[in-house]
Amino acid sequence: MVTLTRAHVQLPPNQIALKCPLCEEQFHLHYTEDEWHRVNTMIQSAQKALREDHKTRHKNDAVEMKWNPLRP
Ligand SMILES: [Zn+2]
Repeated sequence: MVTLTRAHVQLPPNQIALKCPLCEEQFHLHYTEDEWHRVNTMIQSAQKALREDHKTRHKNDAVEMKWNPLRP
């Protein structure tokens, strides 16, 4: 049986939960209202940044994103 139920814990708006692609570390991607249309690209960029950050074992809370808004 497959069920799909609404989660009771909701993330605040403009935040997306992301997991490091290489370990179980969890991150939240925050973005501003005017960036919502770039979310898919931001997620890709964030995952790239998390892979990079994984090499240093996520020692910092904030992960630097090499975000290039001009790239399609
Ligand atoms: Zn990791």
